[in-house]
Amino acid sequence: MSTRSVVIVGAGVAGWRAARDLRGAGFEGSVTVVGDEPPYDRPPLSKQYLAGEFDDARISLYRGGEPDSLNVEVRQERVAFVRPGAVTLEGGEEVAADEVVVATGSAARRPAILDGHDILTLRTREDAQAIRAELENAESLLVLGGGFIGVEVAATARQAGLAVTIVEAQPTLLGAALGAECGERVERIHRDHGVELITGVGVERIEAADGGAVVVLADGRELTADLAVAGFGAELNLDVFDGLDLNLSNGVRCDEFGRVEGLDGVWAAGDIAAWHDPVTGEAIRREHWQVAGEQASIVARTIAGVEIVKRNPPYFWSDQFDVKVQVFGRPELADSRGWLEADDLDPESVWAFRRGENLVGVVTFGVPRLLGRFRPLVVEGLAAATA
Ligand SMILES: Cc1cc2nc3c(=O)[nH]c(=O)nc-3n(C[C@H](O)[C@H](O)[C@H](O)COP(=O)(O)OP(=O)(O)OC[C@H]3O[C@@H](n4cnc5c(N)ncnc54)[C@H](O)[C@@H]3O)c2cc1C
Repeated sequence: MSTRSVVIVGAGVAGWRAARDLRGAGFEGSVTVVGDEPPYDRPPLSKQYLAGEFDDARISLYRGGEPDSLNVEVRQERVAFVRPGAVTLEGGEEVAADEVVVATGSAARRPAILDGHDILTLRTREDAQAIRAELENAESLLVLGGGFIGVEVAATARQAGLAVTIVEAQPTLLGAALGAECGERVERIHRDHGVELITGVGVERIEAADGGAVVVLADGRELTADLAVAGFGAELNLDVFDGLDLNLSNGVRCDEFGRVEGLDGVWAAGDIAAWHDPVTGEAIRREHWQVAGEQASIVARTIAGVEIVKRNPPYFWSDQFDVKVQVFGRPELADSRGWLEADDLDPESVWAFRRGENLVGVVTFGVPRLLGRFRPLVVEGLAAATA
């Protein structure tokens, strides 16, 4: 019987999944989760929760009789430092652990341009509540930044009847994440629903935010709206590693099982974790819900001594209006890409990524049922391409 102890820092999807899967893998030692928030799910914050369709209970990460059924101690506190063998809470208390799993996620990035202005950003449940309250009293919304969170907030607000404009400095919405063609496909979804798009122009300065937003663009245009929300990306919560000699330039570097390089007995999963990729030799970090859970599960099972025989390829989704955008596989490995054409496929519904002849990833638009058809093909293609 195991008498080892595990402390998990951060109670987001990665932290809570690590706790659940430790027990699922038969780990019998003590498990403590220390998080400064209760465990809840973030994807609905820009979708159903923002729209008022889901309440707090619906987005809780607890399943069934959790947390009691897992025999896990949950402490709602903030961790100041992580070191091999222990974590130090902000109040100074030290909690010893044989294994420490760090899953501290990220915070909304607030670049200097927002300084002094009460412009809302979205990362937490409280952020979503604040935006929802403001949307209820607004008729127009400016979304600054056309990444996933920005475009989802735009879609939710438009569906609530607001006049919505998105400003994105890059040439296309989501271009960096999905590529120009898929970005243009997303743009069409928004235009078809009456969202105004301004792309290829950055925000120069913000002149007012309270009582109506006034935003000046780099080309001199001045935009006004009742409310502005900024989606300028995420800043990783890495301060628990302060004072350690680690390369934290793009998250915390780990091997392919989540062991933090250079820190014995410390593991990392989720948004903060850059895992070694045996295929490319690179450290890869992704900010996606399924990846956070998958990594946490691998960490938990490895700690419990279970061999990892299968890994699920990365997957993420985004909901905009009635269209579910789904990305499965590893587009970054592709050497060619294009729309799939077939008699039974709507035009521009499946964008395929190939490496040689092998299908290594797909982006699907509004055809969630079809992902089941492409999933095994991508799994097979990835296996062949990376053999
Ligand atoms: C609005 C929104 C919508 C999203 N939609 C999608 C989507 O549709 N599809 C998708 O794939 N992904 C989506 N994501 C991304 C996805 O939610 C994240 O990838 C995922 O939450 C990462 O999980 P995590 O556990 O690594 O971090 P987090 O969910 O950020 O959890 C980390 C937790 O650790 C806590 N913490 C931080 N520092 C400390 C500390 N020192 N001590 C104690 N606790 C600490 C944090 O407060 C937080 O509660 C969305 C994200 C947001 C914000």
